[in-house]
Amino acid sequence: MAERRDKPGWKLLIHGGAGVLDRESLTPEKDRAIRAALDHALATGAAILEGGGDALDAVEAAARELEDDPHFNAGRGSVFTYQGTNEMDSAIMDGRSRAAGAVTGATGTRNPVSLARAVMEKSPHVMLSREGADEFSRQQGLDQAPPEWFATAERRRQLDELRSTPGGWFDKDMKYGTVGAVALDVHGHVAAATSTGGITGKRWGRIGDSPIIGAGTWADDRACAVSATGTGEHFIRAAVAHEIAARIRLCGESAGEAAKAAIDDMGALGGSGGVIVVGADGETALEFNSAGMYRGSASAAGRSTAIYGDETC
Ligand code: ASP
Repeated sequence: MAERRDKPGWKLLIHGGAGVLDRESLTPEKDRAIRAALDHALATGAAILEGGGDALDAVEAAARELEDDPHFNAGRGSVFTYQGTNEMDSAIMDGRSRAAGAVTGATGTRNPVSLARAVMEKSPHVMLSREGADEFSRQQGLDQAPPEWFATAERRRQLDELRSTPGGWFDKDMKYGTVGAVALDVHGHVAAATSTGGITGKRWGRIGDSPIIGAGTWADDRACAVSATGTGEHFIRAAVAHEIAARIRLCGESAGEAAKAAIDDMGALGGSGGVIVVGADGETALEFNSAGMYRGSASAAGRSTAIYGDETC
């Protein structure tokens, strides 16, 4: 007789970036503000899922809240390029159909995740870049914001610090703060979204893993939804998000086993960071090899947030 499985119920996981996060690196005020922002984003996405809404709407809504919060490196509060501009990358993917949308180097859209969704739903393409992405955004009537909206004094300070460090390619402290969300809705569908300003001091139109479908973002109802954060070059080389889905789908691994294996593989290349994963079976994983990761999870059982490596979430 076939085993009867109860439906797993809705799930939502979010991240706000991985990095060198220990209790010494955050003031109590900042610690509290980050947790409050994560909880607010969780509550926004959870309200959609609780009401029977779609995973896709929930991940977009949660990511938009984090984009608007200057604590995170996405939308408002994005890190600066070497030239002192804010150029944002984002992606979204729908596990029902594997429809996907992404943008790189967007400069004027208040919520880049919604621009990625517009690319998915309103264009025949998967990825648009730079001026073209900005033009498409205006044509679609999405909310625009001036450069001052995205730029914050703290991110400017981080750029100045990097520029005065001889030979500093990247921000060594990994003040990343990229945001992401993955969800499973009550209809059994999964979705993923990721949004970022990239890395401080990026040059030459550098693109990280966040908008690369299969590297930083992936969703497939046959397996799971994944959003990543960390040293993007390594996540691209390890195709982390797709690797996790493939391990679940083809090898029968759990979300936790697959996430650990993919992070280990990416780490062996010298990379650092983490992923949030929700399986179509309701299994979840928040896996990282960095000291910490801003993260949160919600389900019908409640909401919780965490920052440091020794906390459970
Ligand atoms: N993965 C992002 C990138 O490389 C950065 C981050 O996660 O903070 O652009």
